[in-house]
Amino acid sequence: MRPVYLDNNATTRVDPAVVEAMLPFFTEQFGNPSSIHSFGASVGQSVKKARQQLQQLLGAEHDHEIIYTASGTEADNTAILSALEAMPGRDEIVTSAVEHPAVLALCQHLEKTGRAKVHYIGVDSLGRLDLEAYRAALTDKVALVTLMWANNETGTIFPIEALAELAKEVGALFHTDAVQAVGKVPIVLKGGAIDMLSLSGHKLHAPKGIGALYVKRGARFKPLLRGGHQERGRRAGTENAPGIIGLGKAAELAIAHMAEEQTRVKELRDRLENAILQRVPNCFVNGDIRERLPNTTNIAFEYVEGEAILLHLTRNGVAASSGSACTSGSLEPSHVMKAMNVPFTAAHGSIRFSFSRDNVPEDVDQVIETLPKILEKLRELSPFWAGANKGPNEFKPVYA
Ligand SMILES: *Cc1c(COP(=O)(O)O)cnc(C)c1O
Repeated sequence: MRPVYLDNNATTRVDPAVVEAMLPFFTEQFGNPSSIHSFGASVGQSVKKARQQLQQLLGAEHDHEIIYTASGTEADNTAILSALEAMPGRDEIVTSAVEHPAVLALCQHLEKTGRAKVHYIGVDSLGRLDLEAYRAALTDKVALVTLMWANNETGTIFPIEALAELAKEVGALFHTDAVQAVGKVPIVLKGGAIDMLSLSGHKLHAPKGIGALYVKRGARFKPLLRGGHQERGRRAGTENAPGIIGLGKAAELAIAHMAEEQTRVKELRDRLENAILQRVPNCFVNGDIRERLPNTTNIAFEYVEGEAILLHLTRNGVAASSGSACTSGSLEPSHVMKAMNVPFTAAHGSIRFSFSRDNVPEDVDQVIETLPKILEKLRELSPFWAGANKGPNEFKPVYA
């Protein structure tokens, strides 16, 4: 079976041009970028160029607004812990119920250890932030608002610039986990209200183990890692020069391919989504289809287990993902599906297909060929399917 990779929100293939850009920095160009001799200086120059490439992708004002980290998770953790330390007299965090665990797990820990009070703002059945609850939580006690730009499970996009403006009104810092947005939607940070933004290399065709935190010039910041003077004293530790240079190349490629995300990649996603809705009864799209990443669709199939669908897809060469973080072996639906109030019978059968510029029309054909048969087979085995209320599919959630 031809392998079909539709799990690009989990990680992407490193672009061959990125690999090529990195290779010299494992061999001849091995110097420490902070050294002043020629071995180091030339690597330092390449790091500088990579920083400018990333600056361009983010529409940032200065290249030194970028602090390299080892992951998106580290960038998120740094932003949150920095804000608590940098904003004396304020000990509240405002976030959402649908954030990535890189934000949620730290917030829960800070709450449990009494270091912060956390407001988890809910979402509606389309995954849209409860604006009334958000406004109500914004007071002069809030040190940080941290909200994701785009959701990793559903692709739903929050109106992040407007949300940042509101946070400014109460003097809070504003951070966004933009790991899923960077490279997929245009971003211009210069002149905006966003103080901090996290991204991760491996979600945009750069390698794993390199991320970045944008910190707006003048925004209050306290480092997480202390030691040497790397990253202007804001993140100690010898720079991951190959990773940084790979991320720079990936940023350059992302700029060149940005239009393709909104056209070719989106068209592949839409064709798959429409075909599934037409051919498979009792399914619907999770999330806000109007405000959504161009590469993601999350489809709820009623009366089946997502894990069973994935297993059968895998046997047919197709790699996708269920929303549920099943790593613990629990069959709980994901916190995102729960926050959206997706009915129990559908939350368990939700599958995410996430595309990238690597995908081709044959990938979509292969899923359309196999998926309806898989659903038919699995539902025949389901004791609930016989008595199910079978009806035509709609684009809006049936429970809304
Ligand atoms: C993948 C992801 C992260 C974590 O990034 P890593 O580099 O894997 O640590 C954080 N937030 C979101 C939304 C993600 O999709």
